[in-house]
Amino acid sequence: MIVWVCTDMEGLAGIDQWDQCYDPDDNSPAYRYGLEQLTAEVNAVVAGCFDAGVTEMRVLDGHGRNGNKGFILEKLDPRVRRVWFTQMNPLRLEGLDDSVHAVAMIGQHAMAGTLHGFIDHTQSPKELCRYLINGQEQGEMGQIALYAGSLGVPLVYVSGDEALCDEARRLFPHVRATPTKKGTGWDTCALYPPDQVRTQIRQDVAAALRHVDRAWVWRPHPPIEVTVEWAWSGRADPIAGVPGVKRLNARTVSWMIADPRDVFTWPSESWNPPR
Ligand SMILES: [Zn+2]
Repeated sequence: MIVWVCTDMEGLAGIDQWDQCYDPDDNSPAYRYGLEQLTAEVNAVVAGCFDAGVTEMRVLDGHGRNGNKGFILEKLDPRVRRVWFTQMNPLRLEGLDDSVHAVAMIGQHAMAGTLHGFIDHTQSPKELCRYLINGQEQGEMGQIALYAGSLGVPLVYVSGDEALCDEARRLFPHVRATPTKKGTGWDTCALYPPDQVRTQIRQDVAAALRHVDRAWVWRPHPPIEVTVEWAWSGRADPIAGVPGVKRLNARTVSWMIADPRDVFTWPSESWNPPR
């Protein structure tokens, strides 16, 4: 059994400050501490996967600020095979293909606009207000679920704050979720004991994988409508100018995608609308 894991940092056990995820200095104590938490949580999910009989782990560092260098390699479980964001446009996720049996996401945050979601956002904090797939508000969890689903691969497990776990229960009730903390404001939260959370993650991901043959795959019929409401109209202008894009109001644009893996690709000059 092959499991593909996407990591992020905002939702990790042990993370309760913006600097731990975003300090621009690679060597700042806060950011180093953040990378320690990331590596520890990867190791917890890897242990749970191998408990459940997994034979191959592919792990993507999904936190943009890390530039694919977020894991502390000497502390990372050596059974992990690291994979990457491909550099081409449209954006593709290495190692996530139809040979994978299940997808897990750890350290995740709630979608943009979620009350008491710790650093809630979708791609661009403060720039992107709402993101919808076929008219339903979604966040990065939904984007990955859609991408994986198009390959016939189910999202089976997530970890993150209580707001992210609520989002999973609401949109993907078959996904098992482990809460790591409770958000109290945009960048404030109350942590749960990180070691206990990681023990729970190990148990929960193993439990999620035991029923992987019966897991639900999100596979809406293409073409799929993507709608984005930006924080201000200037951000919508260049996208609205691309042929095939609809402008719903000053700040909101929508377009169709034929391949669900184009879920991360904003229309630009080189973009061709589906026919
Ligand atoms: Zn992130």
